[in-house]
Order: sequence, then C-alpha cells, then structure tokens
Amino acid sequence: MGQFIEGVDRHQAMLLPECLDDYVCTGSPVRAIDAFVEMLDLAALGFNATPPATGRSGYHPGLMLRIYLYGYLDQVQSSRRLERECGRNLELIWLPGRLKPDFKTIADFRKDNGPAIRKGCQQFVALCRDINLLDGKLVAIDGSRFKAAISKAKNYTRGKLRQKLSEIEKAIEPYLGELDRADDVFEQTGTVLPGARIERALRKLEHLRKEAARYRSIEKRMDETVEKQVSLSDPDARSMATTPRMPRVVGCNVQTAVEAENHLIVAHKVTMQGYDRDALSLMAVAVRDAMAPDQLEAIADKGYCKSEEILACEEAGVAVVVPKPQTSNAGALGQFDKAHFAYDAEADAYICPAGQQLIYRFTGQQDGKAIRTYWSSNCDGCVLKDKCTNSKERRIRRWQHEDVLEHVQQRLHKDPTQLAVRSTTVEHPYGTIKSWMGATHFKMRRLKNVAAEMALHVLAHNMTRVMKIIGTPTLIAAMRA
Ligand code: SF4
Repeated sequence: MGQFIEGVDRHQAMLLPECLDDYVCTGSPVRAIDAFVEMLDLAALGFNATPPATGRSGYHPGLMLRIYLYGYLDQVQSSRRLERECGRNLELIWLPGRLKPDFKTIADFRKDNGPAIRKGCQQFVALCRDINLLDGKLVAIDGSRFKAAISKAKNYTRGKLRQKLSEIEKAIEPYLGELDRADDVFEQTGTVLPGARIERALRKLEHLRKEAARYRSIEKRMDETVEKQVSLSDPDARSMATTPRMPRVVGCNVQTAVEAENHLIVAHKVTMQGYDRDALSLMAVAVRDAMAPDQLEAIADKGYCKSEEILACEEAGVAVVVPKPQTSNAGALGQFDKAHFAYDAEADAYICPAGQQLIYRFTGQQDGKAIRTYWSSNCDGCVLKDKCTNSKERRIRRWQHEDVLEHVQQRLHKDPTQLAVRSTTVEHPYGTIKSWMGATHFKMRRLKNVAAEMALHVLAHNMTRVMKIIGTPTLIAAMRA
C-alpha cells in the first residue's frame, strides 16, 4: 500500500469540523449559479416570492431555480435524480443549504413557472450585453427538430391512419374466410371444425375491429380540428422531417439565433411548425430587442427564404442574408432563368439576353402579393427564343418589393463566406444541447412546458460559454456589480 496514494480514514474524527462552504471551490460554476439567482428580481420575473401567510412554509423559488440551473448545467434534468443529488452531491448540498425538496415539489416548480424561467433566461442575455459579450453585429439563425417525450407510434397523420385502416382491412380477410369455410364445411358435411381455430379467428377479428374503431375515432378527432396530425400522449408534438437522409422525428422545432463572436444564444423560440420559412422575422426582431445594436445582420439558410419575412426583417432594421433556393422551371428546362434578365430600375424594365427591353404591362395578385408583369413585343422571330420560352413571349414577374430581395442577394454575393459562418456559428450549440439532453430530448410534455425546459437548456449553455470565455470569478464579479 505504501506505493499508492492513500485516502483519509473514514472513521477519523476532525479536530475542527469542516464547514459546508469548504467543499465548494471559489471557481466552481455552482457559485456562479448562486450569484446569478441572487441578482434576479424573482418577483418581477413572475416567480411567487411571497411566503404563504398560513399553513406550511414552502421552498423559496430562488432555491428551486438554483437546483434546476445546477441540474441543467450538469445534465441532471430529471426531478427524481435531482432529489437524489440533493442528498449526496456536495455542490447540490451546498447550493440549497442542505435542503432536500422531494421530486414532486421540484417537478411542479418547473411546470408552474415556465414564463418566469423564460424571463430568467432573457436576464442572462441582458447581463451578457451589459458586460459587452454581445458587441458583434452578426447573428446566425437556424431551427432544429427536438424529440418530444412521445413515441412515434402515438403520432398520427391522415396518411398513417389510412395506411393502418387498409392494413386492418387486409388482415381481417383471412379470418373472415376461415369463418366462411367453417360454415360451408358444416352445411355440406355436418362436420364442425376444431373450436380452438374458430375461437382464435373470432378473437383476432374482435381485436382488429377494435383497432379500426380506435383509428376512426382519431380520424374523427382530426376532422373536428384544423390540425393535420394528432399526437396522443403529447398533443403539441408534431411529426417533422429533419433532413432528406434522416428519419422524421415527433417533437418540436426549436429556433435559435446565435451571435457569431462568442456563440451565445441570444434568442430562441419553440414552435410546432415543422418548417422554418415563417420564423425569420420573429427571430430577427427578438435578436434586435435583445442585443439592441446599431446595425444588425442576420444569416439564415435557404429554408428561411420567404419574401414577406425578408421584407419584415428589413423594415425592422435587420439586414438579412438568405440564399435563394433554385426553383426556376425555365432553368430546369435548360432555358434562361430570371437571373439572365437584368432589371433597369430607371426605365422600370428588364433587359433580356437578346438585348430587348421587357416593359411593364400590368399588376396582378398572387398569394396576396402585388406582382408586376413585363414582356417584350419582339419575341417573335428572336434567334434565342428556343432557349427562352415555349410561349408566344417570355414574361417576367416582379414582386412589388423585389428590390429588397435583390439587396439581400447582393449582400450574399459580396461575401459568400458568410454562409460558412452561419453553419459554424449556429449548429454547434444545437449539438452541445442535444448531447446534454440524451436520447429523449425533453422530460415534459406540452409546448409551454417544453419551452420552459428549453429556456433552462439555453441558460445553462450560455452560462457555460460565458464561464469559459471570461472565467467564473469574473462572471460572479459582474453579477454582483
Ligand atoms: S424570346 Fe423575347 S425575351 Fe427571350 S431572348 Fe428573345 S426577345 Fe428576349
């Protein structure tokens, strides 16, 4: 034993008993959690910080928030595991001062204080802004699908219901055939087939009919709402596509905006939409409010390319960079696409590859947007007509606010490397948070609860980042300043 490091004798009495504070070092993240909750005005955030006038005293919301923040920072998100840790983990004995709330009290706090927890997350972003960690003017926006606490089998779309019902119809046929055969044999020969086989067929038929009735009741439920999906154990979870190579997940879409310098999540939203195209202005405005910079630029991928959303961002003072997806029919047919036609703003006309002017003709409406249409009267006899159109003349359509989209494309052409910045900025926080979450991402069901959980994850991610960037003691000093 002499050659190995030896521990303390477990039965050795101490002359001077150690105090609880001795077990937590000065640079421990748990001290930053304590300082952060200390600086919050819990009542203003919406926590019930008033002790009950009568009855048994409850736990202070600051204490419960400390426990949860510790849990999300150390990947212990389950209320039962947090209860256990409060009795054996020295940091989690120090943080609540040896108090050990039961798991139900811990779980109820997260369930009942979702909006206040989300505001707490925003307070940390405000702190980052105050200590100049959000000085950058560039953010990347992206969405990622997170699995809900629900099995895929409990999510139904119309297509899935139709498929299930047709499978049941096919499965019923052999059993009905067996019963028919038994009747025929009895009628023709008077022989009764073995009862066990008939009973088995009847049992199977009953089970299949019950299943069919269950699927029809789900279909009826779907008919009564505008929703195109029904999720049984978590009504807010939706089946969503991830990438073409990845399977669908049943969960929610978490939108985040990450600033490019320190990779802090400035804003996030949890939505039930399986797509990103309606979320650009929502996120851009949330970022603008959180960072309040003079000039803000937001980069997103082509999934966000929607004219109305881009216009809303520009009107809100956020310059966006969004690549345009290739959707041109003419391009797919090997003909000139719209990019081959140059717009002359002064003349309000397009110049085609043959040098002809396509002049303004009329304004129509498409999906609520005013669309101006242009064409030339010289398409007949044009030598390039085969490469341009199969119709009488080539028509070019222009949205009333198309100049905004053109500015966005010019910004992108000026610096194409920005797209690489987008992926290196916004994708790694997702990877970190998902690895913290484990196989099933959320512990709770329903959108409002999931949003509270996500706020705790984002807060834990941001705190971890800031502690890495400026160090825990500096962060604690900033919180106490
Ligand atoms: S077909 Fe008309 S629009 Fe196309 S290149 Fe010829 S003149 Fe121009």
